Amino acid sequence: MATVAEIIEHYCDPKTEGRPWAVSWSGGKDSTTVLVLVCRALQMIPANRRTRWVNVIMLDTKIENPILEDYMRRQVRAFNRWARQNDMPISAEIVSRPIKRSFWVGVVGWGWTLPTNGDDRYCTHALKIEPQNARLADGNPCLQLIGSRSEESTRRAMTINKYREERGSRFSVSPYNDGRWIYLPIVDYTTNEIWQILLNPLPWGPSDEIRRLYKDATGECALINPGGSVKATQACGARFGCWVCPPIIRDRSTENMANVYEWMKPLTEWRQLLKDVHNPKKNPHLRSGYRRNRTPMGPGKGCLAIHARKYLLKELLRTQEDVNRLRELDENPLHRVPIELISQEEVDMIHAAWAEDADKRPWLIDNREMEPGDFEKAEKRLSERQELRKERRAKKKQLLDEKPFVVTTV
Ligand code: SF4
Repeated sequence: MATVAEIIEHYCDPKTEGRPWAVSWSGGKDSTTVLVLVCRALQMIPANRRTRWVNVIMLDTKIENPILEDYMRRQVRAFNRWARQNDMPISAEIVSRPIKRSFWVGVVGWGWTLPTNGDDRYCTHALKIEPQNARLADGNPCLQLIGSRSEESTRRAMTINKYREERGSRFSVSPYNDGRWIYLPIVDYTTNEIWQILLNPLPWGPSDEIRRLYKDATGECALINPGGSVKATQACGARFGCWVCPPIIRDRSTENMANVYEWMKPLTEWRQLLKDVHNPKKNPHLRSGYRRNRTPMGPGKGCLAIHARKYLLKELLRTQEDVNRLRELDENPLHRVPIELISQEEVDMIHAAWAEDADKRPWLIDNREMEPGDFEKAEKRLSERQELRKERRAKKKQLLDEKPFVVTTV
């Protein structure tokens, strides 16, 4: 109730009257809790004072875990129905990156290398942050409410503290420097408190499905494991991430779900295949050895060769067929509906990308050297760079080892 009262106070703040809010909703337990609290607040505000519009944004990476994706879509529909029927100034929408820049078009079409769990984790930015920020810029909300909690992980707590307005505050400035404020209503909640809220029905429908989702994916259950001892395993902090998530070593949520739902097994196998195809140690011949701009990178490096991309698409479509065949046998009627792992529009764009590369960038067709000595030069350049880096590190260490004072005995 204290959080609901706080939300009401900020909602009715005359200083920002009329300016919209945005709520980020992933469908997971934390952001759902924030949305529940916002709805409870709206229900308590008299109708004539509900003058601020609240836009609920749900991100779809288009490679979401299929169970969660289906759940997300049904939740958005149920939520909007509830908002309309109760005349609430709030609505939810699904936002995603344009198809021509989707993960599949990038990786299978243009042969992008896979994101890694380091500086090169471009997927989080490209699939989540970029579309969300563009949508926010369009709606220009004065406040964005998100469900981050300090208890989620040490790394998350550090990020929260870095951007907090002041120590202990539930407000922080947007790290994207766009003048937006971020409000973290449940930043100090424990997992137990979250599940206590979600044990009650959601304003827009029952809450048993979200509890079952967590139980199937992680074993975390509101009734069996109220402390929520299972930690997030996804690379970008998402409990249920993308089913192909390359940065993580093992996607435990999809693997656990595959133990419950037979039709998810081909997904875990295809994910491994994607990683193997990109593994330069296992399959160096599947990389072209060049960048898109023809910079030689050497054998086993650079963009994926066109023949490897063709193999990936063939296997992906076969996986889609296998998944749908197995889904027909599922006990749950909701799971018997066929799903699309990749859309026809994406497949068409992928074919167009191969044709363009074959025509304009012949160095990406296979792993052949375009000019004799290209790869040798690339290897030389790479080892020179490595040497330089080693030297710099050694110099830095030497400087650190040197004592910053001199003692003279007289
Ligand atoms: S879940 Fe994995 S693939 Fe998806 S955006 Fe996050 S890190 Fe990238």
